[in-house]
Amino acid sequence: MKKRIVLLPGDGIGKEVMNSAKEVLSAIAEEFNHTFNFETHEIGGAAIDSCGTPLPDSTVEACKLADAVLLGAVGGPKWDQNPSHLRPERGLLGIRKALDLYANLRPIKGFKNLLHASPLKEEVISGSDLLIVRELTGGIYFGTPSERRENGQVVVDTLAYTRHEIERIVDKAFQAAQGRRGRLASVDKANVLESSKLWREVVEEKKSQYPDVAVEHVLVDAAAMKLITNPTHFDVIVTENMFGDILSDEASVLTGSLGMLPSASLNESGVGLYEPVHGSAPDIAGKGIANPLAMILSAALMLRYSFELNNEANLIEDAVQAILDSGFHTGDLKVENGRKVGTEEMTRLVVDYI
Ligand code: ATP
Ligand code: MG
Repeated sequence: MKKRIVLLPGDGIGKEVMNSAKEVLSAIAEEFNHTFNFETHEIGGAAIDSCGTPLPDSTVEACKLADAVLLGAVGGPKWDQNPSHLRPERGLLGIRKALDLYANLRPIKGFKNLLHASPLKEEVISGSDLLIVRELTGGIYFGTPSERRENGQVVVDTLAYTRHEIERIVDKAFQAAQGRRGRLASVDKANVLESSKLWREVVEEKKSQYPDVAVEHVLVDAAAMKLITNPTHFDVIVTENMFGDILSDEASVLTGSLGMLPSASLNESGVGLYEPVHGSAPDIAGKGIANPLAMILSAALMLRYSFELNNEANLIEDAVQAILDSGFHTGDLKVENGRKVGTEEMTRLVVDYI
């Protein structure tokens, strides 16, 4: 298989962990006889410094022509005082918009050797392995502009969805469930919100197209509770933008570290953007100690969701579990009796396993 992959390392540890992902993908290409052509472009603070804008046109063009995009992280104290159009985060919001990335997928898995790093009891989270599919371009964040009326004493935010917006995210979630354990929890607030009632209708209509998926509807308040009391209950969760924002942060504590969490953002034509959930971590940038696993796991998601290379993705995920099982860990992970390694050594361990 031949693929064109655009790399947007960005700033801070983004650059360091991107090198790791590239090495791991090169090892995969060699092992499975694929050709991955990498093209590196600038975004964020680095792009502001070299081109005077956080999102150069050349970067957008390259991403549109790519089969998939990998992004490191953007931002850092150097640009914190910049006016808003010259903020690194603008680059990230801009590329999400330019590629129309409406589906945000966040897998959350309790890696065995890290369970005690979570504030939850090991027996509660052991074996938790779920995927949150969050709608990313609609809902209350994008309604008709919020306003203040009557001298600021009345405020209005609008939660709007079109049937099309709901259908496409629900389809994505059903498809994801088919590739996993075949269970889908649709999370809404249908006892209160009109948008949730339509959401539920769409899920009910779509059900017959995916007879191999078992569907349930869960109210968002109950879902928030269940994520903590019984996380293994869930396989795939699909939900609207704001509920997804809140639930995915809640669920992220299951893994115990920001340095382990990958994410995928997808559009209708299949160009996906894959990035770690963590930021540019200026406090540790340049020290060679960043945990590259979230970025490496994001590359695995790219193989699975953009290229349908499931064996290759599984191999990377197996490598990560095996390395953690052996006690190797970066400084952000707490492993008893383990051996602490830096970014390069952790990357080498993954490449050697492959
Ligand atoms: P943003 O504002 O970009 O969302 P943030 O400032 O909220 O980011 P991060 O930049 O992700 O968060 O950093 C939060 C903390 O987690 C920092 O102390 C950072 O060093 C640590 N951290 C984040 N990612 C990693 C990683 N991959 N490896 C090790 N430590 C990390
Ligand atoms: Mg930050």
